[in-house]
Parts: sequence; C-alpha cells; structure tokens
Amino acid sequence: MLTVTGAVRTLIDEHTETTDNLRIVDGYVAAGDGTGGQSAGTGTGGVNDETLDVTGCVVTPGLVNAHHHLLQSAFRTLPGTRGVPMAEWLPTMAAAYNRAGVDAELASVAASVGVAEGLLSGVTTIADHHLTWPSGADTVSIARATVDAARALGGRLAFVRGSARDDPQEAAASAESIVNALLPETTTGVSDDGMLQLAVGPAGVHSDSRETFELLGEVAAKYGLRRRTQSNEQVDVVIAMDKYGRRPIQLLEEWGWLAPDVTLAHLCDVLDEEIELLASTGVTATHAPGCDLPMGWGIAPVVDLRIAGITVGLGTSGGGSNDAGHLLADARLAMQVAPLVGPALAAREVIGMATAGSAAGLGRPELGHLRTGAAGDLCVWDVSGVADAGVDDPIAGLLWANPGRRPRHVVVAGRVVVRDYQLVNADERDIVAALATRLAKGEL
Ligand SMILES: [Zn+2]
Repeated sequence: MLTVTGAVRTLIDEHTETTDNLRIVDGYVAAGDGTGGQSAGTGTGGVNDETLDVTGCVVTPGLVNAHHHLLQSAFRTLPGTRGVPMAEWLPTMAAAYNRAGVDAELASVAASVGVAEGLLSGVTTIADHHLTWPSGADTVSIARATVDAARALGGRLAFVRGSARDDPQEAAASAESIVNALLPETTTGVSDDGMLQLAVGPAGVHSDSRETFELLGEVAAKYGLRRRTQSNEQVDVVIAMDKYGRRPIQLLEEWGWLAPDVTLAHLCDVLDEEIELLASTGVTATHAPGCDLPMGWGIAPVVDLRIAGITVGLGTSGGGSNDAGHLLADARLAMQVAPLVGPALAAREVIGMATAGSAAGLGRPELGHLRTGAAGDLCVWDVSGVADAGVDDPIAGLLWANPGRRPRHVVVAGRVVVRDYQLVNADERDIVAALATRLAKGEL
C-alpha cells in the first residue's frame, strides 16, 4: 500500500479537491483517506507499504498524453522541418527515417526517450501513434520493442498501429499480427494489468485510402480495439478537397469512422456544422496545440467542441513537429491560446482535458482521475519554491505559474516510477546514450 500524505491539495478530478491522504492499494485508489498515518489494513502484508510525505506539494492524477509519435523523439529540430509547409516537412522527415533505418532497435531507443521524457514531466500514459512501417519490416518486433521500452520504465502505453500510405492489406495483416503477438485473445485491446493497450489508426484521409480505413476498422472490431486518426489539420482539408471533392469529416462519415470508439486528433479547421455532426456521433477529440501552432495549422476551437458535448483530450504529437513531450507545458499553451478562437478555458478544465479527457478517448474510465477505484496513477508537484510563491490557487497555479515545471514524484499503478525528479527504473543518461549510439550507427 502507498499512502500519500501532507499534500497542500489533491486534485481528485476536474471538479473535486481534497486535503485528505490518498491511499493506493494493489494499484488502485482505495476508499477512505487513511488519516492517522496507520495502514488501514486492507493492503498487502505491510512489507511493501510506503508513505510518501508530499508536504508543500500538489497532487494530481497522472497526465495522459493522447497523441504522440514516439519514434519522432529521435528526430527533433531537424533542419528543414520548421516553418515549412507540410508538403516539405513530410519528405524531410521521411529522408531522416530512411537514413537512420527504422527497425526494432531504433523504435526501442526512441520510445525509451519519449516515455522517459513523459514520465519526468508527469505523463503516466502515452498514446503512441506509430506511422512509420518500412514495407516488409518485422512490424511485430517494432511494436514489441516499443511496448517493452514503456514497460521497463513503468509507464502505461497505448500503442497505435498506424499507417501512412501503407499497403492496406499489409497494414491490416500487421495490425492483426501485433495483436496476436502482444495481446492474444484480447476482446478489449487492454492488457489485464492495464499497462498496455493496442489500437489502430491511419494517419488521415490525406494519406490513407478508404480501404485502409475499412480494413483497420475490421481488425479493431474483431478484437475490440479503439480507433484513432488525425483530421482537419489545414493540409488534410486541402488534400481531401483536391482528391475527393469533399472535406475530411464527410469522408470519415462515409468510411464508417465517426463513432464513439474513434478519437480524432487536431481538428483545427472545422466548421460549425461539422462540430454538430461530430457531437452526434460520439467521437472524441484530441487537441494538440504544441504541434498545430508551430506547423501553422491554427487553433482548434476547443471550447466550441466541448460546448457541443465532445470530450476533448490533450496530446503533444511527436518530436518532428513539437520538440517537447511535456504535456503540462502544452496544457498551459492550450489555456493561453484558447481566447484567440473563442471563450477562455480555465486551468482546471485544461487539466481535466490532459487527464480524464484523454483517458476517455482511450476508452479508459479508470485513468485520469483519483476517485475510489481509479488506477493509482498520480503526480506530485512541488509548489513550495519561489516560482509558486504568492500563488493563491495552487491548482490553477500548476498551469499559470512556473512554466515547464516537472513533478517531484510520479506514481503509476501504485508504484513510484519517478522519485525526487529521477527515473526509478533507469538512468536517464543511459537512455540518452543509447539513442545517440543508435543514431550514429544509422549514419555509417
Ligand atoms: Zn500527430
């Protein structure tokens, strides 16, 4: 059992706060606050019991990054990828992937970097939309390497078998092989311990055909997987109009991809009537301002989406467009830019998006909050320094004050995976060195 005691404030969910202790038993938040300091006895024998004194800190649910491309963690700030149109960005990134050679080893070291960076900034669950699958590659080994990297560090992973102009049959066969290898006989797409989830997701109507959407959809239906894609970045709309004479949302509707098990990332250039349609179909959305702004795609009308009844999560997207996988920093950005396209967003609302909102898009009601029965995933943010001095509301201050803050401790499934700003299960320097070694090898 883990008891978290002494918090200035604990954010249970967007609407609820407490100063009571928090107890995590067998990986889940237990009822009662355990005040009094003695273990209340429902947990294991006591040998593994730990009390985390978080005096001077705010506790929140673990953050859920609903949209990442972990492989891109190896390809940040590449020349020719900043301030350029998507039509130039894509071949520049593709050339970099080719030079390095995408294989299981690269997937492993890049995922280690991305997951470690996530944990060190409070992200306890990452959705990795993996889009780079060289034809003929051993795709199961690439998926397995990514999954193993996240598991070794103690983070939760939702691995999305994506596609970007892949052969449709090849993509679907690969998705099925990955499921059979990593979660055999699954009917939910989530492992028993909740640490691994599998999903499918074409990159978007701008890159993948109706056949790819349909075949990956069939794999999802067969195994109970969630579906994800990217939609209505401005370039997506332009290409859809050129190619099909219709906008992406219309195509997704025709192709059977507007449904409650689907999450759409980006949604920058979206019309009022499209928002209504999306809301009526039960899809969820992922806001990714840390990618959309630098790419020049605009700002998704998040408040309008929420008012229409669409659940919105938050993602960073990958290192090729957003060089930081720091979801709290992007939550701050989301809050700061919201008034440019509509009403303001409150700090608690954005934290809600970065936790429960993202979790809803993954179909994971046990993640993203700290109510009784929730997964024991939490972050401890030290608010006792000068950057937080004078802050009246320590929850709002998580976003308004101290930009770029990192959590002091991070807990996943009741296990401490970051302690005093350091990874528990790995040495950060080894992860950095492994990536540098692998990239150097690719250039030989
Ligand atoms: Zn993306």
